[in-house]
Amino acid sequence: MNRNLTEDRPTFVTHLECSLTGERYEADQLHGLSRAGQPLLVRYDLDALGRAVSRDTIAARETDLWRWRELLPVRRTDSIVSLGEIETPLIPIPRSGGDTVLVKDEGRLPTGSFKARGLVMAVAMARELGVTRIAMPTNGNAGAALAAYAARCGIETVILCPEETPEVNVREIAAQGARVWRVNGQIDECGAIVGRGAAEGRWFDFSTLKEPYRIEGKKTMGLELAAQLGWELPDAIFYPTGGGTGLIGMWKAFDEMERLGWIGAKRPRMYAVQASGCAPIVRAYEAGEDHAERWEDAATVAAGIRVPKAVGDFLILRAVRESGGAALAVGDPAILKAVEECAKKDGLLLCPEGGATLAAYQQAVRNNLVDEDERVVLYNCATGLKYPMPEAGQWLDKNAPIDLGAL
Ligand SMILES: *Cc1c(COP(=O)(O)O)cnc(C)c1O
Repeated sequence: MNRNLTEDRPTFVTHLECSLTGERYEADQLHGLSRAGQPLLVRYDLDALGRAVSRDTIAARETDLWRWRELLPVRRTDSIVSLGEIETPLIPIPRSGGDTVLVKDEGRLPTGSFKARGLVMAVAMARELGVTRIAMPTNGNAGAALAAYAARCGIETVILCPEETPEVNVREIAAQGARVWRVNGQIDECGAIVGRGAAEGRWFDFSTLKEPYRIEGKKTMGLELAAQLGWELPDAIFYPTGGGTGLIGMWKAFDEMERLGWIGAKRPRMYAVQASGCAPIVRAYEAGEDHAERWEDAATVAAGIRVPKAVGDFLILRAVRESGGAALAVGDPAILKAVEECAKKDGLLLCPEGGATLAAYQQAVRNNLVDEDERVVLYNCATGLKYPMPEAGQWLDKNAPIDLGAL
């Protein structure tokens, strides 16, 4: 077992807070959305936290997600079900990206995506608070991570996937012990069914941002990035945005670290990347709106960001604007081209959503949003190995004469 997990687990959670109205909610109780129907954010006693632990203490610990335990909500060590949540590497991609571009390769996490960060935390908290049955709508990776962690601790799961969810995702969810259904609709329509069951008390609703702890898990992407870059954040971050948990989580992490005095006031410009076939956040950003209307007929190869309506839309838009970034859309052909280029030139196989961040970065450089010498981090949110790859159909007949020089 991981060394950290056997230690006591002090947490500095004081309460939860409605992200819209600021209304206070008790910690240590099961919560969904706030009474205003908005996501809840976890708050900590940062003064006490800062006295109890320094960034150097954390930096000296084993480099996994649990090194950040004081900044995480779990109170009891035995609530945690771990599959080995490693710190993910920053990989330079000098040929397809440029000399100052790093990819944070989240595909190396359990279940092959950064959904593991959010779900390891949410499942631990569900377990701590006595939940025995969970349901979730998913485009694939979140369901896979939930299924895996829930299976490990005997929580039952019911998972609904839009019909266009990649086959590999549906199968891995089933293989990891969940009850999974395809639904003839988009993720928000699956979410509506989950909501109906939750209202009847059949299960706890684990939809994106409808429980408060996935953000805390995703927050570790921002904490980790700061530590990896010597407590100096990059100039810009490109984040593939569906529900936006990661972007909101990182923005929260930066804020908490600044208040702890672990980083300065400098923030990266946050670029929320969407596919042009499903870009509700981009449309709202460009129109100057605080909320995003539902995107009809959503379609893109990047299933992880095919989210027509995000509960946390205003939190995404707020972070993007406060940071001086933007919301950017890229087309499927550009996404697939970026995946191909990165694999062929830099040997790193991105998932389509990761490819979207590279395509958006290239577009941002062309449009002078980003200078070529600025330090940029792209998030590759899942392993490229889960997704369909270009055909490779050449055959060699071992019984025929072989022209070795032509191979
Ligand atoms: C979930 C997911 C996203 C979007 O992440 P959010 O934080 O929900 O916006 C992007 N890419 C992949 C591969 C995903 O699974």
